[in-house]
Amino acid sequence: MNFEPSRAKALNKLNDFVENNLSEYSKLRNFDFGPENRSNVSCLSPYITHGVISEKEVIEKSLNKFSFSKNEKFIQEVLWRTYWKGWLELRPNVWSDYLTELNKIREEFKSNQKYLDAIEGKTNIECFNAWTNELKANNYLHNHTRMWFASIWIFTLELPWQLGAEFFMRHLFDGDAASNTLGWRWVAGVQTRGKHYLASEWNIKKFTNNRFNNIKLNENAPPKVSEKTYSIIKQDFNNPQNIEDKNLLIFENNLSFEITDFQNYKFKKVYLISNKNENRSIKLSEKVVKFKSLLIENQEQRLKAKSIDCEVIDISEIKTTEDCYGLYPTVGENLDYLNLNNSKIDFLYRKLDKNSWQYCNKGFFNFKNFIPKIISSFI
Ligand SMILES: Cc1cc2nc3c(=O)[nH]c(=O)nc-3n(C[C@H](O)[C@H](O)[C@H](O)COP(=O)(O)OP(=O)(O)OC[C@H]3O[C@@H](n4cnc5c(N)ncnc54)[C@H](O)[C@@H]3O)c2cc1C
Repeated sequence: MNFEPSRAKALNKLNDFVENNLSEYSKLRNFDFGPENRSNVSCLSPYITHGVISEKEVIEKSLNKFSFSKNEKFIQEVLWRTYWKGWLELRPNVWSDYLTELNKIREEFKSNQKYLDAIEGKTNIECFNAWTNELKANNYLHNHTRMWFASIWIFTLELPWQLGAEFFMRHLFDGDAASNTLGWRWVAGVQTRGKHYLASEWNIKKFTNNRFNNIKLNENAPPKVSEKTYSIIKQDFNNPQNIEDKNLLIFENNLSFEITDFQNYKFKKVYLISNKNENRSIKLSEKVVKFKSLLIENQEQRLKAKSIDCEVIDISEIKTTEDCYGLYPTVGENLDYLNLNNSKIDFLYRKLDKNSWQYCNKGFFNFKNFIPKIISSFI
């Protein structure tokens, strides 16, 4: 598997997937045929997470090829991400509580042998060890495998989900505060209360095409329980009336200025903001740090080729915030840093997010009903 850090490569991947594999997506998407055989899914998440290509672009491309009904499953998956993001935006304490719990648990487990064996791929579960190594080698796992991995971590190895979510964030090229934290919470049974995801031997055998056998798992564990409840914090995701001639800050989630809703505005200068491990609660692997910095560099080159004045700066170098707007970084490490340092920035919100997040107050089942309405706003 190869994720080249460039928009051109991301667009090739998108085109290739839509032309050759999208037609079979709903039938084959649940199979993990192994890292050398990934054409049944798009493998676009490392690019979508960083805004190198947008959900809108992906959906538009798919609809140019097939009708909505033929594409429905794929579009739903693309918008799962948007839904998780909106869900977390309305309940940002889920993220901050997660980090607080993680800090405590990390200390408790730092010498725990079961935990160390899990992250080194040295358990007695062969498939789990293979996935640990695959994650570190390729910085990607198939969706079904993420579910199995998280389930085994929580219910068979009996490790805290918070540490598993950290392990994923450290190594995934697509690591995202919303999809990852809520994905792990969902498997554990604390996202949809009382409903957990239990991996089973037959399911793993079937959907890995018999690559793994003789898998001994705890297939009867009860869901995890959390006392915490989160009510919605009402927020306005409003853009300023008149977007004036100011500087623009772009964080690591919007690395294609040329396709944003704000591409036609004149900004004095564009600052691409990088964020070092020392300012993050979850330290990323060297490969993930490198991937992010190459994507930022690629955006810088493309802006310079269009004669747009731009510069890469570290998040700690943001000095005054009155003379700038920022493309909204969403709940996660960058926003945490800005809040911690009292940086009051006027954020610019994407139309897709503004349109979608209003429907994230309930479950995805409800959100799904609004998908035709959401996509009709940009198709
Ligand atoms: C425990 C767990 C942790 C996860 N952590 C992350 C994460 O950190 N970042 C991340 O982007 N996704 C995460 N996911 C969701 C999903 O596994 C990946 O988005 C997907 O595997 C990416 O592969 P793909 O691009 O080939 O997906 P495709 O199947 O080709 O789907 C197309 C796009 O839809 C979106 N998508 C698909 N499935 C999901 C889903 N279940 N939830 C949210 N978005 C989805 C992604 O943007 C993806 O690129 C997690 C899922 C689980 C169960």
